[in-house]
Amino acid sequence: MTFHAKFSGYADPALHAMGLYIGGKWQSGSGITVLDPSTGNLLAEVADAAIEDAQRAVDAADAAAAGWRATPPRQRSEILRRWYQLMTQHAEELATLIALENGKALADARGEVAYAAEFFRWYAEEATRIPGEFRHTPSGSHNILVDHEPIGIAVLITPWNFPAAMATRKIGPALAAGCTVILKPASETPLTAYAMARLGEEAGVPPGVVNVLTTSNPGGITNAMLADPRVRKLSFTGSTGVGRVLLAEAAKSVVSCSMELGGNAPFIVFDDADLEAALDGAMIAKMRNAGEACTAANRFYVQAGIHDAFVAGLTARMKSLKIGPGYDPETQCGPMITQNAVRKIDRLVSEALAAGARATTGGKPLTENGYFYPPTVLENVPVNASIAREEIFGPVAPVYKFESDDEAIRLANNTEYGLAAYIYSRDLKRAMKVGKRIETGMLGINRGLMSDPAAPFGGVKHSGLGREGGVTGILEFMEPKYYAVDY
Ligand code: NAD
Repeated sequence: MTFHAKFSGYADPALHAMGLYIGGKWQSGSGITVLDPSTGNLLAEVADAAIEDAQRAVDAADAAAAGWRATPPRQRSEILRRWYQLMTQHAEELATLIALENGKALADARGEVAYAAEFFRWYAEEATRIPGEFRHTPSGSHNILVDHEPIGIAVLITPWNFPAAMATRKIGPALAAGCTVILKPASETPLTAYAMARLGEEAGVPPGVVNVLTTSNPGGITNAMLADPRVRKLSFTGSTGVGRVLLAEAAKSVVSCSMELGGNAPFIVFDDADLEAALDGAMIAKMRNAGEACTAANRFYVQAGIHDAFVAGLTARMKSLKIGPGYDPETQCGPMITQNAVRKIDRLVSEALAAGARATTGGKPLTENGYFYPPTVLENVPVNASIAREEIFGPVAPVYKFESDDEAIRLANNTEYGLAAYIYSRDLKRAMKVGKRIETGMLGINRGLMSDPAAPFGGVKHSGLGREGGVTGILEFMEPKYYAVDY
C-alpha cells in the first residue's frame, strides 16, 4: 500500500498496512485507488485480490479453524478484549483514517470508533456465555440436550459507510463463537479495515483467524469462496440489490446467510410531540454521517398541527451546518462518498422539485471540488415521489404532512424496506400502539439514535435476514446440535 504523502501526517504510520492479510502475513500489492472524497485526490493505493488470493484465504481460515474452535472461550474473550482496548487507545488515529477515506465529520468518525470497539468488548463478554439447553420431551420419557457449535468459516462483506463498525459487528460475534473469517471491506474504505487487522494482530489474534482481502472483483471473489464447501456462513451488510444477488449465489451451496440491507426509515412526528426534542432527534436520525446511514430518516411524516413549526425549525438547523472535509475539526457535514452518490441525490431531489416539492434550504449539488451536497429540506413532497421510495443516502430531509394516526401508519409501511422507524409523541401509549403496527426491525420512540451493541440490530421485509449485536448476535455464527440421549 502506498499512502499519499500529503496525508501521511493525518494517521499513525504504525497503522498503515501493507496489503492483503492472509494467514497472518501481509502481501503488498496495488490496483485499488482510494480517493479523498472531499477533493477527489488520490489518498492511497491498496492491493487488488485475485481469485487465487481468495482461495488462499479460505485455506488459511481452514488451517486455523480447528485450533480457534478449541481455544477456550475465556481465551477468545481476552483476545477480543485486548482488541477493544487497542482500538480505544488508537481511537484518534482510526477516526482520522475514517474521516479521510469516508469523508464523514471527525465527530461522527470518533463516534463510530467508540461504537465499533464496543462490539469487541460486548462479544468478549458474550464469548463466555454461549448458551445450551436441557429440556424434557412432552412424553416425559426422554431429555433433549442442545449444544451450539461454531458454524464454520465465515465470509464477511462490509460497506463503506461504517468501515470500522460494520466489520467489528461481524468479526466480534464470529470470533466469540469460535469461527475463523475472511473480511472483504468495501474498496472505497479499505484503510480502516487494514488498520484494524494490524491491531488484531497486536491483540493476539492467531494467524488465519482473521483474513482481509480488498478486491475490484467482489462478485468473482465472493462466488469462488461461496462455492468452496468449507465456507458455511455469509454475513453481508450493504444494499438490498447486492444482497439479493448474494442470497441466490449462496443458495447453490446452501450457505447460511445473515443480511443487513437497505432502509427507508419513516420519522413520524405527532402534534403532541416535544418540538425541540423532535428536532434534536431529527438532526441525529438524518445527519449522522451526513445522511449516509442505513438507519437514516428517509421520510419525515409530520402531523398537520406541528408541520410548519417543524419545517421552520429543521430548516434553521440544517442551514446552520458547516460543510467541509471530514478531517477538518470544524466540519459538521462532510462530502458524499463518490460523485455517483451526489448524482443519485441530485436526481431524487430534482424529480421531487419537478413534482411540486419546495426546497426551504439546499436543493442543488455544490460545485466546488469534491463530492458535496448541501443539507436540504423539502416540503410539499408528493407521497409517491421516487424520493419516498428509494434510499436517499445523503443530507436531504423530505417532509410530508399527515392528518390521522392511521394515515401515518399506512404511509410509513408503504415501502419494501423495514429496517428502522422513529416516532415522536409525548403520549407513550399512543407511540407504542402506533409502533406495534409499523413494519420495522427497530423503532426509536422519542430517540433519534438506536444503535447499541447490546441490542439486536436488523430489519424485516427487504431490509434483511437475521440480527447483529445483542445476546442473539453470536448465534448467527453457531449451529444448534441436538443430542437425543437415552441414559
Ligand atoms: P453495496 O451493496 O454496493 O456494497 C456493499 C459491499 O458489497 C461492498 O464491500 C462491495 O464491494 C460488495 N459487493 C458489491 N457487489 C458485490 C457482489 N456482486 N458480490 C459480493 N460483494 C459485492 O453497498 P454500499 O454502497 O457499500 O453501502 C450502502 C448500502 O448498505 C445501503 O443500501 C445501506 O442501507 C446498506 N447498509 C445497511 C446496513 C444495515 O445494517 N442494514 C448498514 C450499513 C449500510
